[in-house]
Amino acid sequence: MPDHAKHPILTKILATLGPASADVPTAVRLIEEGVRVFRINFSHGTIDQFAKTLAVVREAGEQAGEHVAALGDLSGPKIRMLGVEGGTLEVQPGDHVEITRRNVDASRDPETGVVTLGTTYPEMVDDAQPGHRLLINDGAVRMLITDKVTPADPDTDGRRPDDPRLICGVTVGGTLSAKKGINLPDSDLSAPSLTAWDRQCAAWAVEAGFDYLALSFVRKGADVDELKALLKDAAQQRPAAQRQPRIPIIAKIEMPQAIRELDGIVRAAEGVMVARGDLGVEMDLARVPILQKQIIKAAHDHGKPAIVATQMLESMITSATPTRAEVGDVANAILDGADATMLSGETAVGQYPVQAVHYMARTAAQAEAYRAEERRRHPELPTLGYTSKDRPAALARGVSVIVRDLGAKCVVMWTQTGGGVRYLSQMRLTVPIIALCPDPAVLRKLALLFGVRPVLADPPDDARLIFAHADQVLLDRGLAEPGDPVVMVRGWPMGVPGTTNTVQVHHVADQCRI
Ligand code: PEP
Repeated sequence: MPDHAKHPILTKILATLGPASADVPTAVRLIEEGVRVFRINFSHGTIDQFAKTLAVVREAGEQAGEHVAALGDLSGPKIRMLGVEGGTLEVQPGDHVEITRRNVDASRDPETGVVTLGTTYPEMVDDAQPGHRLLINDGAVRMLITDKVTPADPDTDGRRPDDPRLICGVTVGGTLSAKKGINLPDSDLSAPSLTAWDRQCAAWAVEAGFDYLALSFVRKGADVDELKALLKDAAQQRPAAQRQPRIPIIAKIEMPQAIRELDGIVRAAEGVMVARGDLGVEMDLARVPILQKQIIKAAHDHGKPAIVATQMLESMITSATPTRAEVGDVANAILDGADATMLSGETAVGQYPVQAVHYMARTAAQAEAYRAEERRRHPELPTLGYTSKDRPAALARGVSVIVRDLGAKCVVMWTQTGGGVRYLSQMRLTVPIIALCPDPAVLRKLALLFGVRPVLADPPDDARLIFAHADQVLLDRGLAEPGDPVVMVRGWPMGVPGTTNTVQVHHVADQCRI
């Protein structure tokens, strides 16, 4: 067991499962090291494969004795190249490339040297305009669209071209191969926010019982609303007894349009992901660290969690130790206020998945200790960007003061639907929030929230036993010692959703000091 297991970190770690980790023993090790959410990337694989990976998540959670969430990551309207004749194709600066609407593999005309390239989204030929940039393979190959041939522009001899296409000049050369991603950072694409594949995956995710769904290439709040409607429809297809609350949606922020529409997106979604991979291609890479801070702040202004993703410990795909810069990146994301940090290739295809989580958790423990020390030195409350008249939000602020003034060991919250826990999480307490709840599906969702420790517990039949019951849970699990001050938050009457209204100070197992 790792050192920090006795004092689990408050930051949540997401790990992407893939060939390097999608087996129960490895997933159990990842949980022991600190993973609380597993990501299954719907961009790679089949629904049968995803179902097997989800079964691994559930079994590993069971074996490790932790409530861990499964997050399905919908691909969204990611544009990709089709195939490449001969496998790969080198392009040089100055090369002439034509993007066609036709369903063709990329090839070079041996006589003219012109490269023709087909894509998964032929409509981009209509949407993109001369002067726009066209980037391939995460921006490794770059082109400028210089002209466009459309049926509306007849040739000089009056014929209409039967092959509308974009004419591009290569500015940065490189290797093209099948399925490489294409980004058009300057173009407003008319692509629907959900592809047919996304619709299939989302409907299946409802059936399979995923805890979160992330949506890629979100451009506006309405994109999130469209997914919500689809999830609602999919739920309606299920027998009433098997219907679950709608799967919460994490909007991936990775496009300039999303930055412009950030407020509307954050309002619509249940959380956001700073998807730095595509964000760094779609926007000036140098802006990404500042955008990260702005996106996290926008999420917190609405009381919603933010995940920081991509290349956090990238070198650990092939190396057993991270670089100094990577460790600094993880620590700074946490100090920026990230609720969760994510590993992608490091755990999906890397050689050192367990070590990557280990380093991330150790770094988080250090960043959290630093932040706790800073809080002690500057004990003012974190200012929330939003003013809420919600009772749970106001209670959360009060709890924060009590925890600070009494040096409470933890907050214990009885919850039915997990609703009020989100507000407490956003107070960025330096002690854990023990969320006691009888519903495993709610507990799994709570696993993503900063500082929250989900624990399965039925409320006592007799409300007078509430303290004794909570003490038992805390002591049995080693979450508190006799005499520790804790702050209890609950609803009255108990067990009724939406009634969080009571805060009490309590000393564990000390009847005289209740
Ligand atoms: C990203 O772009 O950073 C990201 C997380 O999305 P994906 O892994 O789907 O590219």
